[in-house]
Amino acid sequence: MNNTTPIIDLDKHSSPRVLIVDDTPDNIRVLGTILRQQDYQINVAQNGLQALNLTSKIMPDLILLDIMMPELDGLETCRRLKADPITRDIPVIFLSAKAEDEDVLQGFELGAADYVTKPFNPKILLARVKTHLFLRQQTKQLQAFADRDGLTLLANRRRFDEFLLSEWRRCHRAQTPLSLLMIDIDYFKLYNDAYGHLKGDDTLKQVAQIIAAVGSRPTDLAARFGGEEFSVLYGNTDHETAIHFAQDIRQQIEGLSIPHSDSKVSDVVTASLGVATKIPDEELSALNLIEAADARLYAAKEAGRNQVKT
Ligand code: GH3
Ligand code: MG
Ligand code: MG
Repeated sequence: MNNTTPIIDLDKHSSPRVLIVDDTPDNIRVLGTILRQQDYQINVAQNGLQALNLTSKIMPDLILLDIMMPELDGLETCRRLKADPITRDIPVIFLSAKAEDEDVLQGFELGAADYVTKPFNPKILLARVKTHLFLRQQTKQLQAFADRDGLTLLANRRRFDEFLLSEWRRCHRAQTPLSLLMIDIDYFKLYNDAYGHLKGDDTLKQVAQIIAAVGSRPTDLAARFGGEEFSVLYGNTDHETAIHFAQDIRQQIEGLSIPHSDSKVSDVVTASLGVATKIPDEELSALNLIEAADARLYAAKEAGRNQVKT
């Protein structure tokens, strides 16, 4: 899943991508002929290192992995794929002339999804490929559902917490700033009381769309933090830039011009925002970033709402 798109498009259909890894051109040709019967995107690597490099770039849905290759063999390649959280879940099917029980068992122990011995029946191989691609697709869809909030389609709190931790670590290694926005809709209880809960839900969705659209890159994540409170994490982003995003969001929410007759600060729906930026170090934890943004959000409320505190 790509974080550039805070709203996950589950209906998006692109043909599955299969990576063939084999050092023998004849084998690659045969596998290519079999796979081309289906609408698959096919990539080829001729050794283990090439396979690892290519995998992190193209993120295939399935890898067909030869075992006996010079330098980095298939077993070691699989071991490294499974050790990396980014590539761990990509199913690997070993294709090998090594057909002893111990060989097959070793393949499964390394985390392979399947083990096919050469020579193989092309139809059976294709059936196995289809099965593993189907399972992979299902897992990805379930993952996408588990990560998002059902009402706004933004990332949910669980996903936010997980992402915050990994971005905190990444920015710590790179010594780059990490910025967080906390956003809370003003007088939203009164809004629900005046217009009803369903209209309230609709307003939350509209606000969420604005929050998702401002400054979204692979290192960013917009989330529903809870209730009518949202958070956006901007990786590699300094305070000035984050303030700019916050002001943009505040302005756009006001610009929706959703009537709110009971608000004490405006006649339309508005929000208050807190902005915090930290370069992660040994002394700090990711929770300090949340606390800092939250304190400023509170200050924005105290100072009269519909504003950004930095
Ligand atoms: P403040 O300006 O101080 O933030 O006041 P507020 O009324 O927005 O804050 P408070 O925390 O008192 O109330 C939050 C309201 O948000 C109450 C709750 O009913 C509403 N809310 C939370 N989640 C949802 C939701 O999913 N849908 C709807 N419609 N309302 C929600
Ligand atoms: Mg509120
Ligand atoms: Mg609140």
